[in-house]
Amino acid sequence: MSRIERADLVVVGAGTIGGWASTFAKRDGLGRVVVIERDLAGSGASSRAAGIVRAQGGTPTTVGLGRWSIDFYRRQQDELGTDSGFRELGYLILAVTEDDERAGRERVAMQQSLGLDVRWVTATEAAALNPTLTADGHRGGSYLDTDGHIDPPRNVRAYSLAMQQAGVELRERTAFTGLRTEATANGPRRVVAVETSGGPIATDRVILTGGPSLASVGRAAGLRIPAGAVRHTVAVLEPHDAFAVERLPMVFDIGAGLYWRQEEGGLLFGWSDPHDRPGEARTIDWPMYERMRERLAAFVPLARGLGTRKIWAATIDFTPDHLPILGPGLDPDGRPIDGLTVASAGGHGMMWGPGVARVAADLTIHGRTDVIDASDLGLDRFDEQGRSRLATDPIALPFPASTGDADAPVATR
Ligand SMILES: Cc1cc2nc3c(=O)[nH]c(=O)nc-3n(C[C@H](O)[C@H](O)[C@H](O)COP(=O)(O)OP(=O)(O)OC[C@H]3O[C@@H](n4cnc5c(N)ncnc54)[C@H](O)[C@@H]3O)c2cc1C
Repeated sequence: MSRIERADLVVVGAGTIGGWASTFAKRDGLGRVVVIERDLAGSGASSRAAGIVRAQGGTPTTVGLGRWSIDFYRRQQDELGTDSGFRELGYLILAVTEDDERAGRERVAMQQSLGLDVRWVTATEAAALNPTLTADGHRGGSYLDTDGHIDPPRNVRAYSLAMQQAGVELRERTAFTGLRTEATANGPRRVVAVETSGGPIATDRVILTGGPSLASVGRAAGLRIPAGAVRHTVAVLEPHDAFAVERLPMVFDIGAGLYWRQEEGGLLFGWSDPHDRPGEARTIDWPMYERMRERLAAFVPLARGLGTRKIWAATIDFTPDHLPILGPGLDPDGRPIDGLTVASAGGHGMMWGPGVARVAADLTIHGRTDVIDASDLGLDRFDEQGRSRLATDPIALPFPASTGDADAPVATR
């Protein structure tokens, strides 16, 4: 081991989680921080996202992560001299059924108890806040003025610049291929090195990210991580004067998993199909696209006549309970491996990403964090089949019920 290179922290994956976590760790004073990226920085989910950012989480934990992340986006320019393009537009989360309304009002009460300035608005009030939205076909919803969106490619640029300024070493086109651990005197194993396509790096600390590829990153490390990947589709409609205004609240039709917001004078909308099987996104499902356009036009009638300017299907990460994974890697007996942290935003890396990255850096360096109570978010919440003992976050996209890789083989080392 004495002749191989050495780092104080190795981060796997240069998406938004690995990018910001490495920056935070380096700015906290760690010596050599190396990020291993099998492709190019941002080439995973992080450059393909829709950029929706909300503090309206479905649990106190996700409210906390959303708030921390929005505060971070707001202070980025002062702190780092770079920004992710955060734009405050407000966010309406609509209720269509009576059940939606009951759940929505409970959610608002929970969020208000945490000090969030969220409120319930009627259908008429919602349509007054966003004049392109009809007042029919819904029962109003929850509304928070301070939610908004970032520009995902600009976020990749922001963390890439921040990494460089902080002195993080980025190794692109270098794949993580394995983890070396050794037994300690008192029992648990500890990290001693990572293996990469460019050779091994000795280190005591590793953060594993991977977004939609996190399960395979885990397998290379000898861990079972119930993290999934599935198609998510986003389209942008051509410009219209009604959208080319300073500020229109974003809208989420939560029951259909359909959301929309202003983009370049037009309308961006995105959706997940709960019937999609887990796996990499390769194609656009055009019949589903037509159904989503119909659904959108029922809420935003003037969208009906607008042409499509862009559309893309990309692979999104998700977890079985739609919550982040933040905690130590576990050995096959379920014992924490010293120095190893696993981090996933579970498909919400724009809204929770900086918060998740901050927690990952905190847990790795200090063993604790002030951002949120992360004690429930580790891999130990999942059983052998990848089922979580936590309740599912009620405000999430309609992801598949299973990650589809609980039975995949795990490397042993
Ligand atoms: C179409 C779409 C729309 C979305 N919209 C939103 C949204 O509006 N709001 C929101 O909050 N979230 C959204 N998301 C989710 C968000 O983009 C992700 O949660 C987030 O980008 C995940 O960040 P990450 O760093 O964990 O993963 P990634 O960005 O995927 O980064 C992981 C990196 O790890 C690398 N990697 C993988 N395996 C290895 C290996 N063996 N060795 C080295 N490197 C490896 C990959 O190449 C990749 O660059 C969207 C996602 C998609 C696809």
